[in-house]
This record gives sequence, C-alpha cells and structure tokens, in this order.
Amino acid sequence: MAQRERGTEAVIHTARLSHNLKQFKQLHQGPVITVVKADAYGHGLAVAVNHLHETDAFAVATMDEALAVRALSPDKRIILLEGVFNQHELSLSIQHQLDVVVHQHYQIALLNQSSATEQLDVWLKLDTGMNRLGFDPVDTEQLITQLNAAKPVRQIRLMSHFASSDDPSCPQTQTQQTSNEWLKSLGYEYSLSNTGAILNNLSDRQEWARVGIGLYGISPLPNQSGSDFGLQPVMELSAKLIATKTIAAGARVGYGGTYEAASDMKIGIVGIGYADGYPWTQHQSQVLIHGTLVPVIGRVSMDMLAINLQEVPTARTGDRVLLWGNGLPIEQVAADMRLIPYTLPCGITKRVNFHVI
Ligand code: PLP
Repeated sequence: MAQRERGTEAVIHTARLSHNLKQFKQLHQGPVITVVKADAYGHGLAVAVNHLHETDAFAVATMDEALAVRALSPDKRIILLEGVFNQHELSLSIQHQLDVVVHQHYQIALLNQSSATEQLDVWLKLDTGMNRLGFDPVDTEQLITQLNAAKPVRQIRLMSHFASSDDPSCPQTQTQQTSNEWLKSLGYEYSLSNTGAILNNLSDRQEWARVGIGLYGISPLPNQSGSDFGLQPVMELSAKLIATKTIAAGARVGYGGTYEAASDMKIGIVGIGYADGYPWTQHQSQVLIHGTLVPVIGRVSMDMLAINLQEVPTARTGDRVLLWGNGLPIEQVAADMRLIPYTLPCGITKRVNFHVI
C-alpha cells in the first residue's frame, strides 16, 4: 500500500517481539504464557501470535480474543483470564479447548450444569491480596473438591496475580508472596508472576509465568526501561511535521492558550493527536526530531500537536517526528505524562497506519 501522506505510523518490529520472548524464557527458565489480550497490548493480535511460536501458551481476557487466537494457533494452550460467563461460552471453551480461569461460584455452577461430554483444563484463581478476581485462599481445598466433582473438569491448576510486582519490598507484595509459598505447597501446577514479578526475581522456574508488557519491550518498573533488561521496543510511533511557523513573543499556542511564547520562536505542528492515541494530559512530554528531544507545547488536539522547534532550526514540513521508540523510551514518555506505559500502545487507534516489519 502506498505510504499515506499524513504519515502517522506505528512500526511493529516482529524480530524484537521474538527476541523479547527469548529474553523472558532465559530470565524465567520455566514455561512462559504470553499475554496477548487487548490486541496484543495494541500491537496487533495476529502479528503477535504469528511471531510467538516459542510460547508455551497464550493468555487473553475475552472470548472473542480467545477465538481469534485459536484460529491462528490450532494447538497452543490458550487461557481465558476472565473465564466464562454463561453455558454458551463454556461450550465454546470446550469445543475450542480453551483453559478457563474460575474465580466465582457461578462459574463452578456452570461447570456442574454443563451437559458437555468433553473436558477442559481450569485454573482456580486465588486472591492473595490484590482484591480483584479470585477466591479467598482459605477455601482452596474445598473449591478443588467442588471442581473435581464437575464432569467437564480435566485438570486443575492454580493462579494468582500480584498487585504491586513492581515493588517487591512493599508489604502487600510480601503478604502475597507468603500466600504464594503456601499455594505452591499444594502440589498443583501454578501461575503467579507477571512481567514485573519476573524482572524483580519474584518468579520461580516451576511456574507458568504470564508475560504481557515485557513482551512488547516495555518495563513496568519505575525508572527502568525495557533496555535495562535487554528488551527491545516492539512499537515505534512516529508522525510527520505537517506545518512549521514562527510565532511572536506573547503568542499563545493551541486550545485554551496554555502555552505562551517567551520570545519569538519557531514551532512545528505534528500530524498526530488524541484521536490517534497520543494522549491529552496536563503534563508535558517530549518528541524526538533530527536526533533532538524537544517539548510538546500547549494542549494535544484531536488530530495534531505542537512542538517547540527552537533547538531544531533546520526542521522542515514532512520531517519525521518520533513519539516513542528507540531513542525515546515509551516508559519515559509515560512517566512525563504521569501515565502507566501500558496505556500508551493500548490506546493507539485504527487511524494510525501499522507497518509490520
Ligand atoms: N495476568 C493477568 C491476570 C493480567 O491481568 C495481566 C495484565 O494485565 C498479566 C498477567 C500480564 O501482566 P504484565 O503485562 O504486567 O506482564
């Protein structure tokens, strides 16, 4: 397809995706479940699945996502993290051999009421302190008995999730680790760790680790980029300068006039805005142009944003501007915006031209 004139583009580096999975396999030393929910964190589900052949399993949030992965990957284990909500979804899970996470009594009831003749594997989700999905661990043995009595259940595994794996010394993580140690002693296979837990050495090689954000080269740990762990950024987001101009001292830029020029200055208008997924925030981020980091000025609009070009006098209309990628870590952009890095790739919209290499 011809390059679009506007040039707003997310380049997806597939070799880096495979590299990052290899890196996690080395770091974890045990089975890795690659988390490809939310369109592979905005990177494109099909691209991700097709370049993660080395994975031991996939995890997704929703039934639609699970069926899309199954169509691309007939044989791999696929784990439905939110589980099933009705008999129809349970039948689909059995038919397509999806592992379901069980975190509420109604899901055990669905398994008991099922007339299915085939079976599936289930992951019993235990809430060790995140207070999101999962049963109280004190009920574990009783729940296992109930699940064993349900005819569609073939094998039971245990799962839990860290609330603050980016902070290994915080009391919540310590408490969860204590529960996890007990959970490991029950003699079932288990899955506890996400990216942060692996990078903070909280995982153990026995477990099925669930790697999401790290797979895409992004670190969830404060003040550390993926590159600190040998990871490579899979998405590079860029756009073009669609206008340049010189504004006079005292002129105000953009909606609300929140930026005022202190002196006469050169500014550039970049063809990307919040409708493309570059967020509107109260905080100032930076972009990279001609190898120089320059600040975004004023408010991000729906289709464009303004940048300060005082340090880049040679910048011309049509020049490429990097929003994140090599040279401008997405973790830094997110920190400048006071956002978590997860939200940035997940927010990229269909209007952006994806270029898979
Ligand atoms: N496991 C569960 C239950 C999740 O919800 C997520 C992500 O939200 C993950 C694993 C992957 O976490 P991360 O992207 O931090 O590796």
